[in-house]
Amino acid sequence: MNVEPQVQSKLLELAGLDAELARTAHRRTSLPEQQEVDRLETERNTRKDAAVAVQIILDDLDRDIRKLEGEVDAVRKREQRDRDLLQGGTVGAKQLTELEHELSSLERRQGLLEDDLLEVMERREASQADYDHAGAQLSKVEDELIDVRRRRDDALADLDSSVAARTADREALVVNFPTDLLEAYEKQRASRGIGAALLQARRCGACRIELDRGEISRIQATAPDVVVRCPECNAILVRTKESGL
Ligand SMILES: [Zn+2]
Repeated sequence: MNVEPQVQSKLLELAGLDAELARTAHRRTSLPEQQEVDRLETERNTRKDAAVAVQIILDDLDRDIRKLEGEVDAVRKREQRDRDLLQGGTVGAKQLTELEHELSSLERRQGLLEDDLLEVMERREASQADYDHAGAQLSKVEDELIDVRRRRDDALADLDSSVAARTADREALVVNFPTDLLEAYEKQRASRGIGAALLQARRCGACRIELDRGEISRIQATAPDVVVRCPECNAILVRTKESGL
C-alpha cells in the first residue's frame, strides 16, 4: 500500500483521538459518582426496609391498643349495667350477692386491662421514636442521592460533550485517508486496540517492542510512501524524524 508520508502521519492524530475516545468510554463505566449512587441506593433500600419493619410493629401495637380499648369499654359497660341493676332496687338477695361478686371481679379485670394498655402504649411510644429516627435517616439518604445523582449526570454530560467534540474531529480527519488505509487501520484497531503508532527510537508505539536490526534495515530500505507494519503487533508504523532510522 502506498500513501504519501504526510497523510500517513495524520494517522497519529487519528490514533490519538481514538485513544481519547476509548479513555472517555472507560471513564463512563467507572465514574466515582456512579459508584456513590450505587452505594447510596443500597443504603436507601436498607433504611427503607428498616422503616417498613418498624411500621409493621407500630401497626401491630395499634391493633393491640384498639383491642384492649374495646375490652376496657366492654367491661365498663358491664359494670354500668350491674350498677344500674343494683340501684334499681328490684333484685333479690341472691342476685344481689352475685352482682356484687361480679362487680368486684370486673373491677379487677379492668385494672389488669388498663395496666396492659399502659404497657402497650409505652411500647408504642418507643416504636414511634424508632420510626421517626428511621424516617429521618431515610430522608437524609434520599437527599444525598438527589445531590450525587445530579453530580453524576453533570459528569456524564461533560463526557458526552467531549465524545461529541472528538467524534466531530474524527469525522473531519478521516476524509484525508484513502479507503484501503482507513480499512487497514480500523481492522487493526478492532483486533488489537491500536491501529497505528509512531515508530519512535526503533520502538513500536503500539506494542512497545524494540525492533531488531534486521527489521530496522528492512524499514530503512522501504520507500517513504510505502505503509509499513510492526512485525510484532501488525500496527501501522508511522515514520518520522524520531523513528531512529
Ligand atoms: Zn508493535
